[in-house]
Amino acid sequence: MTGTGRRAVLDEAVRLAVRDGLLDSPAPVIGLLDVDGIRGTVARLHAAFESPAPVLHTFAAKACGLVPVLRLLAESGMGCEVASPGELAQALAAGFTPDRLVFDSPAKTVEELELAVDLGIAVNLDNWQELERLDAVLAARPGTGGTPRGPVGIRVNPQVGAGAIGAMSTATDTSKFGIALRDPGAEDSLVAAFARRPWLTRLHAHVGSQGCPLPLIAAGIRAAYELAERINAAVGRPQIDSLDIGGGLPVNFDGDDESPGHAAYVAQLREDVPDLFDGRYSLVTEFGRSVLAKHGMVLTRVEYTKSAGGRPIAITHAGAQVAARTVFMPQAWPLRVGVFDADGVPKSGPGVVQDVAGPCCFAGDLAAEARELPLMEPGDVVALYDTGAYYFSSHFAYNSLPRPAVHGFRLDADGRARFAIVREAQTLAEIVAESGDAYADSLVGLVDTTAAADRRADGDSQSPDRSSDPDSAEVSACAS
Ligand SMILES: *Cc1c(COP(=O)(O)O)cnc(C)c1O
Repeated sequence: MTGTGRRAVLDEAVRLAVRDGLLDSPAPVIGLLDVDGIRGTVARLHAAFESPAPVLHTFAAKACGLVPVLRLLAESGMGCEVASPGELAQALAAGFTPDRLVFDSPAKTVEELELAVDLGIAVNLDNWQELERLDAVLAARPGTGGTPRGPVGIRVNPQVGAGAIGAMSTATDTSKFGIALRDPGAEDSLVAAFARRPWLTRLHAHVGSQGCPLPLIAAGIRAAYELAERINAAVGRPQIDSLDIGGGLPVNFDGDDESPGHAAYVAQLREDVPDLFDGRYSLVTEFGRSVLAKHGMVLTRVEYTKSAGGRPIAITHAGAQVAARTVFMPQAWPLRVGVFDADGVPKSGPGVVQDVAGPCCFAGDLAAEARELPLMEPGDVVALYDTGAYYFSSHFAYNSLPRPAVHGFRLDADGRARFAIVREAQTLAEIVAESGDAYADSLVGLVDTTAAADRRADGDSQSPDRSSDPDSAEVSACAS
């Protein structure tokens, strides 16, 4: 779909979401996901990688670990990359079978490795200590014959350098991820490690992400490919039979076009690593942002407008809790803002330089600063575009603001919209429960221990030690 076509769909979704009351109290902020947009991108991703090489496209769960989204992606033929027990649980709940999962993480525990081995999930090891740990896990599982059921790879850091955003650059000299390939002796040690372990069959490189140009990412994949060739030559057989090339494709946050897009990335790879696709290696990808970013938006109401120092400010309900990266690193993660009237119709009118502020109690809580937009009024609707990945799905619990509801939508051919709930807004009861409500008296009990013990010794049954009293939680819940 063209950029203009995509914008028309999103505009219509805003109008219908407003009409259907999705932005009404008590939740004047929601996330919206364009289901057809997501499916279109997934189809283009599969088409772009069409080649003699078999490919498993996994979705990086951290980009949007919402179970209905993961299930939609599973139904669209994708696998899932997980990097924590929570993401693994979400992926299993979404229905991914273990053979479609990849488990990455720089900090896997023994238990997590055991679980992955037992389920037959593909694992990418991050460092030498983890490799030894897996050796021990396998040795302690005689049933495995010392061989894991799923593919096991080693993540390498090709050290090809940084992109425009330091915190997003995984392949600098000192990046924390994988085994640093250019460090003295690293390649020789890797060759030896593979030679000793016939079950090590994969190399993994995730070079990215936002801010990294395509040739830089391709250079990282090329380094992993060349190492695989070297290892296979050294052991005299194609022991490495798959390459996990990670995700990291940047996304266009400046306009509606989906660019550079997976096809351009594949073209770059074909140029820089031509033999990657010849079928000798099967491939795994782990795209996150480039699958979902363009298909989501945050919608919120303008609660108040004011002016300070000559700067008009619109106060909305979308701030750091739903857009943490943008608020804390506005230069690196600027978002496009759409302004709609109270009925969800795009507002026109001369551009006025304004701030779009959020509800959090710190001064920097701005979704956009000094942006030229139609002058906003209370009741208007603001859209933060391109937020389908890493925004409302990566909630930041500042000020105990609730996780917003998320809805998916489709527009029928006759222009009717259908919405489906993806996640309900977090309730106040849930916030209180997650804030230790069950232990409301625990600290007071700790402070009172001596006095309470004295009273107990005196036989004062009126002052029980509530820290160990299972009923105390209920008492406190009723009292609050
Ligand atoms: C975050 C991450 C991804 C996804 O990155 P995107 O930039 O969202 O495509 C893939 N693989 C690993 C190992 C990651 O950490």
